[in-house]
Amino acid sequence: MNTEQLTKDFKTRFKGDYAVFSAPGRINIIGEHTDYNNGFVLPGAIDKTIELVIRINHNSNIINVVANDLNEEESITIDTTQTNYHWTKYILGVVGELKKLGCNIPGFDSVFGGNVPLGSGMSSSAALESVFGFALNELLGLNLNRFQLAKVGQMAEHHYVGVRCGIMDQFASLFGEEDKLVKLDCRSLEYEMIPFHPDKYSIVLLDTKVSHSLASSEYNKRRASCEKGVSIIAAKYNQVKSLRDVSIDMLEEFIDEMSIETYKRCLYVIGEIDRLQKACEALNINDFSTVGRLMYETHDGLQLLYEVSCKELDVLVQFAKGYNGAIGSRMMGGGFGGCTISLVEAVKKQYFIKQSSLKFKSEFGYLPVVHEVKIADGAKRIL
Ligand code: ADP
Ligand code: MG
Repeated sequence: MNTEQLTKDFKTRFKGDYAVFSAPGRINIIGEHTDYNNGFVLPGAIDKTIELVIRINHNSNIINVVANDLNEEESITIDTTQTNYHWTKYILGVVGELKKLGCNIPGFDSVFGGNVPLGSGMSSSAALESVFGFALNELLGLNLNRFQLAKVGQMAEHHYVGVRCGIMDQFASLFGEEDKLVKLDCRSLEYEMIPFHPDKYSIVLLDTKVSHSLASSEYNKRRASCEKGVSIIAAKYNQVKSLRDVSIDMLEEFIDEMSIETYKRCLYVIGEIDRLQKACEALNINDFSTVGRLMYETHDGLQLLYEVSCKELDVLVQFAKGYNGAIGSRMMGGGFGGCTISLVEAVKKQYFIKQSSLKFKSEFGYLPVVHEVKIADGAKRIL
């Protein structure tokens, strides 16, 4: 769906002036399961976006919204809590959270659509929240900054959709910049832009299409193990508030006081926080082979210590390891399914995609879905 088609669709339904905005999905280069341990994450906005054509409808308190990709539409009053469709919750959530901040939101007419794959780990939901928040902020002169808008998106997801997500996705969608990654400190919420010039390398995502019902219960168990580790260490070192404050040496001291499971979980997280720092140092000097190696190490940790991978992801990463030209690869996201993210020499990319897809098919009987992405700008007005 491109701007022209969305605009055309808007004009057939609504009258008057309009503006067009876009907000991207995101990838995360390294830093998995670090957010809730007060560590860092390193996402980047991507060249897959949701676009929104919108006009403020000052004469009513009705929100008219069309989800072009799904061929669905809703007309709802601004104060409703009832929606026919799941996607409307994100929009009502953004409106509701803006109102909580004291903003007066009138009705509006809108059409949106895009190419962020839904539910593939590129955060189409954050793109959706960000594009509406950004557009309403600009058109109504609300004077909220991007950080406040990220919070609005996150809280919309918590309170209206029931997903207790961190802030990484919304942060990347709003703060992302071409050729840069966002190093976000999940403890202070301070951030730093890290240069990302992969030049001869491409980012390839291979989506296993696996989604395990286990994911959320296992996620909670991982969080509990991390908290357990912290409580054991904090009994002696009371300055320790999270695994961010723990070094490998400190952890070793407690190896006999915790279960092997707790130890492994903590070891992964501490290692991952450190890998992310090293990856940023490497990116600052354009050392992509180090970044790639760290990605492979992250996958090993997620597979063997944190135990959140699955065989479909492992087969893809294993294939990449043996492929001359794939300098790094790992599972991306919470685990138990979803995509792998790989850094591949651009000239060998097509062959890599073909060969890994065939390998995957020979093992699992179907092809993974391929997404090539580039790092791009965050939310913006395009017309
Ligand atoms: P993701 O990992 O992509 O964020 P989520 O399950 O969090 O997956 O969010 C996907 C949901 O976001 C969809 O079920 C839908 O409600 C909404 N959504 C995202 N993109 C679109 C779109 N282009 N059109 C309509 N709804 C969308
Ligand atoms: Mg989401």
